[in-house]
Amino acid sequence: MDVEYLLGATKVAFCEHKLPEKGTVIVLNVHEDEVTSIETLFAHSALAPFDFFYLKHKGTRRIQFNLDEEVFSFDPNRIFTKKGRKMTLKDGGNYSKKARKVVKKFAEEICKRIDGFSVVIALHNNSDVNYTIKSYLPNGVEAQNTKAIHINPTAVADDFIYTTENDFFNQFKALDINVILQDNKKYVNDGSLSVYCGKRGIPYINIETEIGHFDAQMTLLSATFKILEQKS
Ligand SMILES: [Zn+2]
Repeated sequence: MDVEYLLGATKVAFCEHKLPEKGTVIVLNVHEDEVTSIETLFAHSALAPFDFFYLKHKGTRRIQFNLDEEVFSFDPNRIFTKKGRKMTLKDGGNYSKKARKVVKKFAEEICKRIDGFSVVIALHNNSDVNYTIKSYLPNGVEAQNTKAIHINPTAVADDFIYTTENDFFNQFKALDINVILQDNKKYVNDGSLSVYCGKRGIPYINIETEIGHFDAQMTLLSATFKILEQKS
């Protein structure tokens, strides 16, 4: 079901798929151009249904909106802290306090939809050749976010898990899956959902694969559900 939302003067939609009885896990996608992730949502939920949602607007990573005859844009995975909202609006080339408040309300709409679930699974795709699990190694650009890392040298470096929970980290590691444990104290406050969840102790798992790696994303999501089943 598409739930329309008015962002300033611009319509966006939450495409929501809900189980008849709310489950314990919510799966989501916030970057509409990461199309493999969205395919994975549909294909995997066809095998075994789960609650999920994604954002619909213009098919781009960033969301553009009109407010008081001006245009603003933001990255929907950079809006979960005040600092993040400020930075991502500025990155979009236009900033006002009012726009920041509009974006805050939108972030709250996303948070409302993950509220009450015991685990949050976010699906992402990357295309930047320089961004892989190796970015999280001690000399990498993401090093500050890393508490622990496990790399399977024979696995594809673009396909990995990023989690806020030590337990999940150990379970993925035991399966020899590429995995990073977020440092929930030293992380870079970029306003992403992992920062929001890490701060609040909400168990969060990001399944990140290269765009087009549909099978890999399906396999990693299956492995995640298996781990969650064993836990409960
Ligand atoms: Zn993404």
